[in-house]
Amino acid sequence: MTSTLITNIGELMTQDLERRVLHGAAVVLEGERISWIGDTAAAPAADQQIDADGRAVLPGWVDSHTHLVFAGDRTAEFEARMAGESYAAGGIAVTTGATREASDYDLTRLLLGRVAEAAAGGTTYLETKTGYGLDVEHETRSARIASGVADQVTYLGAHLVPAGMDPDEYTDLVCGPMLNAVRPYVQWADVFCERGAFTEEQSRRVLTAARDAGLGLRVHGNQLGTGPGVRLAVEFGAASVDHVNYLDDDDVEALAGSWAAWNGPADARSQGTVATCLPACDLSTRQPLAPARRLLDAGVQVALASNCNPGTSYTSSMNYCVTTAVLQMGLSVGEAVRAATFGGALSLGKHVGQDTEGKRAVGSLAVGHRADLQMLNAPSATHLAYRPGMPLTQAVWRAGERIV
Ligand SMILES: [Zn+2]
Repeated sequence: MTSTLITNIGELMTQDLERRVLHGAAVVLEGERISWIGDTAAAPAADQQIDADGRAVLPGWVDSHTHLVFAGDRTAEFEARMAGESYAAGGIAVTTGATREASDYDLTRLLLGRVAEAAAGGTTYLETKTGYGLDVEHETRSARIASGVADQVTYLGAHLVPAGMDPDEYTDLVCGPMLNAVRPYVQWADVFCERGAFTEEQSRRVLTAARDAGLGLRVHGNQLGTGPGVRLAVEFGAASVDHVNYLDDDDVEALAGSWAAWNGPADARSQGTVATCLPACDLSTRQPLAPARRLLDAGVQVALASNCNPGTSYTSSMNYCVTTAVLQMGLSVGEAVRAATFGGALSLGKHVGQDTEGKRAVGSLAVGHRADLQMLNAPSATHLAYRPGMPLTQAVWRAGERIV
């Protein structure tokens, strides 16, 4: 097993239990795991050594919300939106047409390219969703292809009711034959609970069926207006509710309440519903940014994710999300980095676990956790916000292997 020692780390943001930030630190990667963290002066020998020369090292980004299995292009829709047309949920149908027509080979190639782009930007753990197939055959195909590439896969048959179908009949399909067909390939189910997508009643049916099938739950909620999404997510004990742009006091209270009894990362029983903010999507749709500051102040655990998709957020840049969270959402650099690493891992159930292959924690740096790290060409993570848009990603390791 090859070991790598990284020395002279100017700022090591661990996101571990004590949220330690170490200076002059060193890390040893051994195989796929982190085997040592401490002072450079006390570091053990290793097969190879890398001098960070004062640069910052942090956990690789955990992107807990993407839609990467698709074909086709929606530049024209983006241009129309920038020219003043408002976003409605219907653009998904364009992507569905192109995705159904694409070959397995092309869909896989496109997906691999997008995952490689994300990795080049420092993302080392990634969830992706189905949702551009919208029939049994194509949802299953998307799930199968995604399961061979992404770390975790979410079934989003309930993304949009295909044109010409009765919404309740389609919901039956999503809860029955489609769910059964995708079940072997996915860990999660999700529903787009929004005006123009799925009603509260339909969303309730989807979440119930998915729960009964043993899947973890996620919800797209409160993106385009206030509505039942957030409260439904909390009621069902969903791991995450994503978008959360339009929240009333009851929504914030419900989310905060879901975390009230939580005793920290090891307490899975009292874990609440993570609020996942998607700032790149908010900017691309010119929607108000999600109130992440208010959620953190209320005691809610927050994640940042890219929502990379062809319609409303065609970027997997987590650097961009972190930059926006600091510059425009009122988060500190530490809070933004935590949301983009530990927060995403928390929402995917990957924030704990040591020394068991395949079950190692991601999103934080501690002995026994998976060796997912990124080095910035900067002395501190602050530079992500201080120097927005600059190519700061210097090196990336995924499961101990250097990939950038
Ligand atoms: Zn989404």
